[in-house]
Amino acid sequence: MSEPFIPFVKPDIDEETIAGVVDVLRSGWITTGPQNQKFEAALSDYVGGRPVRTFNSGTATLEIGLRIAGVGPGDEVITTPLSWVSTSNVIYEVGATPVFADIDPVTRNIDLDRLEASITPRTKAVIPVFLAGLPVDMDRLYAIAQHYRLRVIEDAAQAFGASWGGKRIGALGDIVSFSFHANKNLTSIEGGALVLNNADEARLAEKYRLQGVTRTGFDGMEVDVLGGKFNLTDVAARVGLGQLARIAEFTARRRVIARRYFDGLRDGAAVRAGVELPVADFENSNWHMFQIVLPLERLRMTRADFMSALKDRGIASGVHYPPIHLFKLYRERGFGPGMFPHTERVGASIVTLPLFTQLSDADVDRVVAAVNDICERRTS
Ligand SMILES: *Cc1c(COP(=O)(O)O)cnc(C)c1O
Repeated sequence: MSEPFIPFVKPDIDEETIAGVVDVLRSGWITTGPQNQKFEAALSDYVGGRPVRTFNSGTATLEIGLRIAGVGPGDEVITTPLSWVSTSNVIYEVGATPVFADIDPVTRNIDLDRLEASITPRTKAVIPVFLAGLPVDMDRLYAIAQHYRLRVIEDAAQAFGASWGGKRIGALGDIVSFSFHANKNLTSIEGGALVLNNADEARLAEKYRLQGVTRTGFDGMEVDVLGGKFNLTDVAARVGLGQLARIAEFTARRRVIARRYFDGLRDGAAVRAGVELPVADFENSNWHMFQIVLPLERLRMTRADFMSALKDRGIASGVHYPPIHLFKLYRERGFGPGMFPHTERVGASIVTLPLFTQLSDADVDRVVAAVNDICERRTS
């Protein structure tokens, strides 16, 4: 193969950030400390001054977000079955019960009509996911939440840099959870952050983050909450700071790439064969991913065949996500095939194409040509 392999994602860490990490390593303070304070302050600025606390993952943030919202045994939490499995695992983690509502097959996000229809007297909270960085209709979501008095923990793991009606995701709403995993638009290698409503919630977040500890004076310490070990290292926070300085640039580049995908795919063999493109949102979405849904029957191939054909052309791809309710853990808890047909169809046929800031225009054109070529061959 003459052309270089195109991965489907690759973090963009600049030399200034690498030098900054080296400084932190040499500073003598490598775990949670001054870099975290800076990172939390900068994130808070970014979301309009709301309190922000950092964590070591975007799973810890979801779980602690639920605890702060008072979700526990006996409560139901409504979410989407098309997400990374941590979105619903955390509901079991806090002793509550996940209730899934099927997706809208166009946006691939939770269908808010179905969400509303799933509300019962036991519903305490909802966890909407902004798949690929496309927000749900936030006005409608919060109208529902207000009407039924529900807490919202936004799983905005993929939505850092996205917005709604000109406002940044994180700057509006209830509790907002971000992930800074290596594949996300802003990374701290591993990490996450919670945007909270007030100082009390921020204090509680700090306790859940570190063994429930409150320190007083030079030598005092109290523990009054069962917390865990979820703090972010200063090395990680320094990486996050370097990324945050470039988030506007990152999002702009991702939008250019997404546009190029649309331009190349819209009138090509793939769409003629029935490939479904994402919603063309260039206002709100941060284009965390560019995902296509394959017409597997018309192509007479499996998704694995399609991904393998891309690989043969030097292109990596991904699957985000298999339906959560079909995993064994969930089947053993009463979920099963046929319950969420849109999620099952999309989950079985969705493919994530390469999208990262350093992907060149020529790389995008190569991916477009490959997708069109595979579809052309399979339908002619
Ligand atoms: C990445 C991700 C998470 C979990 O974040 P981690 O930092 O990997 O724990 C949760 N939900 C969604 C939708 C994600 O994409």
